[in-house]
Amino acid sequence: MTITLSPPPPRIRAELVVLDDRFAKIAGDEYVERLYDGGRWLEGPAYSPAWRCLIFSDIPNDRLLRWDEPSGHVSVFRQPSGYINGNTLDRDGRLISCSQGDRQVIRTEYDGTRTVLASHLDGHRLNSPNDVVVKRDGSIWFTDPPYGITSNYEGHAAEQELDGCHVYRIGPDGMLTVVADDFTRPNGLAFSRDESHLYVVDTPAKHIRRFDVDGDKLLGGEVFAPCAAGMFDGIRLDSAGRVWAATHEGVHCYDPDGTLIGKLVLPDVVSNLCFGGPKGNRLFITATTSVWSWLLTANGA
Ligand code: MG
Repeated sequence: MTITLSPPPPRIRAELVVLDDRFAKIAGDEYVERLYDGGRWLEGPAYSPAWRCLIFSDIPNDRLLRWDEPSGHVSVFRQPSGYINGNTLDRDGRLISCSQGDRQVIRTEYDGTRTVLASHLDGHRLNSPNDVVVKRDGSIWFTDPPYGITSNYEGHAAEQELDGCHVYRIGPDGMLTVVADDFTRPNGLAFSRDESHLYVVDTPAKHIRRFDVDGDKLLGGEVFAPCAAGMFDGIRLDSAGRVWAATHEGVHCYDPDGTLIGKLVLPDVVSNLCFGGPKGNRLFITATTSVWSWLLTANGA
């Protein structure tokens, strides 16, 4: 039997903007690889170390795709998907997803069945959960802007049932609570490595806010950084506390002190990113129709 590997992915020279010496030390390969280019609007990358694959969302095409790291093949993982947007893995390696179409946060169990973790607050439907992260204690934190229901682009135009766009926490006991209620449209979110801080994007406000995490509560919430190119979407932290953010001109990197230290410019609007690969130093980037990867000297948080 012959095993056929996919041809090497196309690559382009990494267009770096070094604004500070601190960025030059962590920028990695001189090129970025285009792993896939057939989506309509890609989002929600989540890397599984156990399966060595990247799961990502192709939202308007109502599907989850799967890129297989050993072979380079891309296949359809789930369709229909419920117009899933953000994805992450929980501490047990299970896929946690934000379904914009079904207005739920769901978990895919080991046997493939799905469990709805959150769909309503006080009897009102959520807007359209967007992005999600898991804390070490098993709690699940997600954002709920109305992007999935503001038009019929995805066929789900509807009135908002809740009076705002909040950040939520699902406790290990399954209890849903609002942890921040003063956002316009919260979007990407990420914990620092020690989980003492939670960073949350407010997209129309064009900034990232940083909260102190006190158990199941958030304190503070000052502006950490304004966006230098369009608006922010997804964010991730590396192990040194730097914030990597999706913007309209590529990926922006912020020092823990809030200084924009460098950029990776890409040809399309970037929606989201995650760290992965066997060493945790491969940055996967969803950008409009494509998935890119860039090998760094920094590791994910
Ligand atoms: Mg998002």
